[in-house]
Amino acid sequence: MSRIPLIAGNWKMYKTGPEAVETGAHLASLSSDVSDVEIMIAPTHLSLALVSHALKGTRVKTGAQNLFHEDEGAFTGEVSAKMIKSAGAEYAIIGHSERRQYFQETDQSVCKKVQAAVAGGLKPILCIGETETQRDQGKTFFILDKQVSDGLKASGPGDLEDLVLAYEPVWAIGTGRTASVEQVEEVHRHLRSKISTLFSNELADRTRILYGGSVKPDNVSDLMSIEDVDGALVGGASLDADQFIKIINFNK
Ligand code: PEP
Repeated sequence: MSRIPLIAGNWKMYKTGPEAVETGAHLASLSSDVSDVEIMIAPTHLSLALVSHALKGTRVKTGAQNLFHEDEGAFTGEVSAKMIKSAGAEYAIIGHSERRQYFQETDQSVCKKVQAAVAGGLKPILCIGETETQRDQGKTFFILDKQVSDGLKASGPGDLEDLVLAYEPVWAIGTGRTASVEQVEEVHRHLRSKISTLFSNELADRTRILYGGSVKPDNVSDLMSIEDVDGALVGGASLDADQFIKIINFNK
């Protein structure tokens, strides 16, 4: 099965509303002739509706960086899948390592969020990845397997047709260090076979597995040439549209 590459930008806690709209609009004009790559940016919740509205009809889709698993209620400060969808987003990033590290997210809360995203009509991008210590201790595959199986525990294959996995080694995020081609190749192959074992060959075949961790214009082609790499989740280098378009155009 041919999987359309997804290049997704995580804007983290950067850019005010007007700044986000300006960068998004610039990216949209730079990407107007891109046809074989799906593009997504995830601004802050506060800018999501503004940016989605400004990008309607362009090649650039939007996503949220997080969500809360309940539909609505007395959950001060939280935002539901339904609200994100109605803001115009198509994707939701779930379980980013910064959320696991700073906001106490666990595989259990991630599992509820994946379910809520799917129920709310959003495509989940489930982030997983090992820390440097875990890698040094030889626990990489154990950790990744647990994050995948616990994070998807409550979902059946029918819920996960639009699932995207993002392998983001924690030690490579925002550090300028990128996993080697061999490391990425080994992990992505393993993850696809894990989805096959947990669900089905068909689902494993259609699931896009992104790599994230210091992806830049000068390393994206090597990463994208790896067989089981179906795109990239990009932090720092997605904040500047002129840089990000070079990543989107990895095959040109
Ligand atoms: C990320 O935020 O998911 C990420 C991969 O960041 P960076 O590209 O800056 O390492």
